[in-house]
Amino acid sequence: MRKIIIAGNWKMNKTFRETEEFLLDLTDFLDEVELNNIEVIICPPALYLEMATDIAFENKLFIGSQNISVHEFGAFTGEISGSMLKSMDVEFCIIGHSERRKYFNETNKMINTKLMILQRNKIIPIVCIGETLEEREMGITKKIITSQLEEVFKDIKINGNVVIAYEPIWAIGTGKTATPQQAQEIHKFIRKWLTDNYSKSIAENLPILYGGSAKPQNIKSLLEQPDIDGGLIGGASLDIEEFSEMIEITAKN
Ligand code: PEP
Repeated sequence: MRKIIIAGNWKMNKTFRETEEFLLDLTDFLDEVELNNIEVIICPPALYLEMATDIAFENKLFIGSQNISVHEFGAFTGEISGSMLKSMDVEFCIIGHSERRKYFNETNKMINTKLMILQRNKIIPIVCIGETLEEREMGITKKIITSQLEEVFKDIKINGNVVIAYEPIWAIGTGKTATPQQAQEIHKFIRKWLTDNYSKSIAENLPILYGGSAKPQNIKSLLEQPDIDGGLIGGASLDIEEFSEMIEITAKN
């Protein structure tokens, strides 16, 4: 049975105290819920990773980074390396997010390097892929997804510890969610690509999350789709009530 994952991507939000308060409330909440097969992850700003992993330690919560450097160490002012993340006990890391592709010019090649570095450091990558509105309207969504997968996974062995997030860019932070059918079609396509390029067992065991304006009102219908294994959640993960509600709905699904 595949793991179900609810991951919060906080982006550049919350102060140190707000983060601490949220995570303490969240771990209290997680103590009370029957999580079954669900893993809950928060990806706070990098500055708070140490505090976050301390709070998550021995609690039912995992902590992820929002980014990692393409360099392993050295004179790269402001960068954070894989071994630094590992030394903070970070267990997951988002790579390939559309905001990093758009605002920081990240390419599939760079994301491929980041994926290799994460694997060397035994940190689980959450690999984001997705098409723009223009690409969807041109009918080339699957072509874009295929080239992202081919370039990001070039020379990568999947040892079981990889998560993919399908995030249609037109749905991120816009309030416009993909319909469950639109999302399912692409999730199924990604799983087929994994079967064809890796193996049936890798494809069947790899969690594929949906991201793009997921919220308590639509998470259930998304999770009902056979190839959607959870969500990467931006805006709704900043609010403890909304995020807890989504975990509760997922646990009951
Ligand atoms: C995201 O940034 O990964 C995301 C899915 O954001 P939102 O839920 O706000 O659309």
